[in-house]
Amino acid sequence: MVTFIVLMGAPGAGKGTQAKLLQEKLGLPQVATGDLFRANLKHQTELGKLANSYMEKGALVPDEVTVAMVKDRLAQPDCANGVILDGFPRTVAQADALDHLLAEEFNTKINIVPHIHVDVEVLVERLQKRAEIEGRADDNEETIRRRMAVYEEATAPLLAYYAARGLLVEINGDRPIEAVQAELLQKIAQASS
Ligand code: AMP
Repeated sequence: MVTFIVLMGAPGAGKGTQAKLLQEKLGLPQVATGDLFRANLKHQTELGKLANSYMEKGALVPDEVTVAMVKDRLAQPDCANGVILDGFPRTVAQADALDHLLAEEFNTKINIVPHIHVDVEVLVERLQKRAEIEGRADDNEETIRRRMAVYEEATAPLLAYYAARGLLVEINGDRPIEAVQAELLQKIAQASS
């Protein structure tokens, strides 16, 4: 069974938290583009420095750069049985590139696109709290608002894109972590059977 899951949700909706839990339960790797960029930055690679010039403004890293990085990551042996994509795709161009990549490299398609939905004011509050706890450089109020706007403009159209293909499943993310996780697992099991 090969399972490709695209986890969608605005910044702060809990994608990262849920993806990590799914990784443990399903035995599939979490592929989070934000984490990959941050790891590159930590090691001061050219990719990391380039990505950071966009991240620090709350803007998206260009599609070609992001897609090339995901392509390399999906070519790793641990991705052979599927992955949990977290924070990718974020544009329609990335979604198209992902479809091609899955068709060509894996001879497969996305199985399910769960969308963790949380109201925008709750999200901003959560992100400000995260800023205090984790100290992420892009978690200040101005960048948070910018990331929300980018999400609405570039990424939210993907919801209709995946809904039209019957892949989108809405999950209410304004609940305890365990409740969200339980529903995700149930919906993924349904989609995989
Ligand atoms: P995240 O950790 O997913 O919130 O991502 C943090 C930042 O990394 C974003 O605000 C973007 O600057 C960049 N980023 C992460 N994923 C992508 C992507 N799929 N496309 C473009 N930029 C991305």
